[in-house]
Amino acid sequence: MHTKVKAMNMLIGGKWVAGKETFEVVNPQSNEPIARVPLATREQMLEAIEMADRAYRTTQVWPTHERIAILNKVANYMREHAEEFAVVIASEGSKTINEARGEVKRAAQTIQISAEEARRINGETINFDQNEGSENRVGYYYRFPVGVIGAITPFNDPLNMVAHKIGPAIASGNAIVLKPASVTPLSALKLAEAFVKAGLPEGFLSVITGSGREVGDTLVTHPSVQMISFTGGSEAGEKITQKAGTKKLSMELGSNSPVIVLEDADLSDAVQATVSGSFSAVGQNCIGVQRIYVQDSVYTKFVDTFVNRTAELNVGDKMDELTDMGPLINEKEAMRVESWVNEAVEQGAVLQFGGVREGAFFTPTVLTDVPETAKIAKEEIFGPVVLIYPVDSLYEAVERSNNVNYGLQAGIFTSHINHAFYAIKHMNVGGIMINDSSDYRIDAMPFGGTKGSGIGREGIKYAIEAMTEPKVVSFRLQ
Ligand code: NAD
Repeated sequence: MHTKVKAMNMLIGGKWVAGKETFEVVNPQSNEPIARVPLATREQMLEAIEMADRAYRTTQVWPTHERIAILNKVANYMREHAEEFAVVIASEGSKTINEARGEVKRAAQTIQISAEEARRINGETINFDQNEGSENRVGYYYRFPVGVIGAITPFNDPLNMVAHKIGPAIASGNAIVLKPASVTPLSALKLAEAFVKAGLPEGFLSVITGSGREVGDTLVTHPSVQMISFTGGSEAGEKITQKAGTKKLSMELGSNSPVIVLEDADLSDAVQATVSGSFSAVGQNCIGVQRIYVQDSVYTKFVDTFVNRTAELNVGDKMDELTDMGPLINEKEAMRVESWVNEAVEQGAVLQFGGVREGAFFTPTVLTDVPETAKIAKEEIFGPVVLIYPVDSLYEAVERSNNVNYGLQAGIFTSHINHAFYAIKHMNVGGIMINDSSDYRIDAMPFGGTKGSGIGREGIKYAIEAMTEPKVVSFRLQ
């Protein structure tokens, strides 16, 4: 017997379709089911891809002004229904209601910026006559959409990560088939509803709910899908990269971001920013602070202040506006985080604060003396745990920061411009924040990593670049 909860349909090319089978979306705080969504079959995924392909190939003209109008309507709708979106995010995911409200604002902005960037998809004229023999040529290049984009998104920003795929795809005239994280499909379905209401032509958007392993493969390997835009963990990312063959790839993967705190920094400012960067969204954030390297002379003071500030965080009901941290996405994840912490402690780490699990909740946790060979020091924890290390120099801090297989973002606190420039030059990351934690992003900036953190850049303008190709046109004058 299924519990009686709201049954939702998925969007296949403009039509809301039920599944032969369904699965429950569960609120991780109460463990109560909040909706049932279709468990898509391979055939349904194929149908969505075929509809996207047909829509893209048979639409002769889809003028920029029409795409802009649709995106503007969606952004306005999101703002008018902001609280509804926030409640969906906070119910299905692990964000607090305050964090969810912040995400809705950003997601509406992501769609709005997509509308603005659509105006600026331009090409250039080409000076063919720079080459001998080409004196009688004139021409240009323009950018055309790749066609059908397969997008796969994670649970941690269930609305904004989806907006980062659909916004730029529609802005640049592509058709998109999206598979949201199976634990948090409701925010994506709600955004899809906004696109349907705004009059998006049929076929250009499908949101297929279900298991990544079941229907993900079909999306990743289908010959009509020209590009895979994936945001998620490194394990799934690597599998997808291997299967995608020669398709275009945008891979936004994980990290274990470092922050350096030097003795010339404003220490209380550094503590404030790194506590927030470590524990917002329960540490389930690709740019969340995981490792902090503090110069010897201020190390003890930093750790003490950091622990005191951490102890002030309220862990509890995510719908309460005074709560700083709700539960992790599920109990299994909380148990994994707990086991990584315990393993580090067995290997010699010192638990300065936290380390307590209750169901899906895990207290904010501060570790020192963690061996650099421990899993928690090398891999992405994706939970509310931070490691603090003493270092004797900026040089050492940078070396140790770089000594992992990730490189998404980093931060450095210093009042010395030369120290900042040294870090900017030598830290192997996609973004470095001076006097801020790694956990800083605006949606318009180029965003992506080096090494195991991925391939390519997102951020609306840069995603549009990836989702389009230049086509060269040359006229031979006779
Ligand atoms: P995940 O990798 O488990 O899942 C992400 C998505 O991939 C889900 O939709 C899932 O169903 C799908 N999937 C899983 N296996 C698949 C397969 N074999 N084929 C096709 N699809 C498959 O990640 P998650 O737990 O949802 O999210 C957390 C991860 O996402 C973290 O590692 C985090 O760092 C990363 N992330 C990165 C960014 C970024 O922009 N770099 C942003 C947010 C999250």
